[in-house]
Amino acid sequence: MNYIDPHIHMVSRTTDDYKRMAMAGCALVSEPAFWAGFDRSGVEGFRDYFRQLTVVEGRRAKLYGIEHACWLCINAKEAENVSLSREVIAMIPEFLELPNVLGIGEIGLNKNTKNESIIFREHLDLASRTNELVLVHTPHLADKYQGTRMILDMLAHESRISASRVCIDHVEEHTIRPALEAGHWVGMTLYPITKCTPSRAADLIEIYGTERIMVNSAGDWGHSDPLAVPEFIFEMRARGHSESTIRRVVYENPLAFFSQCQRFRFEPRKEKLATS
Ligand SMILES: [Zn+2]
Repeated sequence: MNYIDPHIHMVSRTTDDYKRMAMAGCALVSEPAFWAGFDRSGVEGFRDYFRQLTVVEGRRAKLYGIEHACWLCINAKEAENVSLSREVIAMIPEFLELPNVLGIGEIGLNKNTKNESIIFREHLDLASRTNELVLVHTPHLADKYQGTRMILDMLAHESRISASRVCIDHVEEHTIRPALEAGHWVGMTLYPITKCTPSRAADLIEIYGTERIMVNSAGDWGHSDPLAVPEFIFEMRARGHSESTIRRVVYENPLAFFSQCQRFRFEPRKEKLATS
């Protein structure tokens, strides 16, 4: 089954991963801007990173028949530095006309601090002025519930952005309901240990259905699995779910969310193979 991984940091993965993902049916990835494992020294570091996301990474993906789209922002961890964050936010519009940019993300909170909240709201302001989609990172472990509540509150106060143009990512059992009830899309991150495992994600599909729900690997330079979405497909099949139910979660839903971006164009893989 062809699938989409709507959240994966391919700059941190090898070309062997691209090959294995292509063989497993990956047709499209979307790559949010995130923390590189170290704080950048200035705005030029981000400009280079955005060039890598918008130009270089798409070329690597294409070698394996995978389409690549991306999101731009300063991540929540480095958002603690407010003056640097403002320089980055002012620079982002230079890249917003590029056809493979889906919007602003992954913005959000890390330790739920005041500075992170300030920069989260300034990113929302940019997204509303430029009419961009928004991808939101929710915090880890102990900070997740409170951070998700804070994020949903700030989004509720930003009346210029419609709820359906925002995806709340890394939801778990205790945060999925408020995000869906607010009208947002949600992403379940399939991690080997923390966040959602493939079987916990399948449980949540059985409870909440398939509307506005996606799954992703959030593969990066840490402990993560770039083939987590195929693992989820395997789990869903083992439980007897129909191919159409699975396809909705791993393919049609991310396409529907991305298609709200006017620049987004995607040529399905099957058609490509048929004409090549
Ligand atoms: Zn991420």
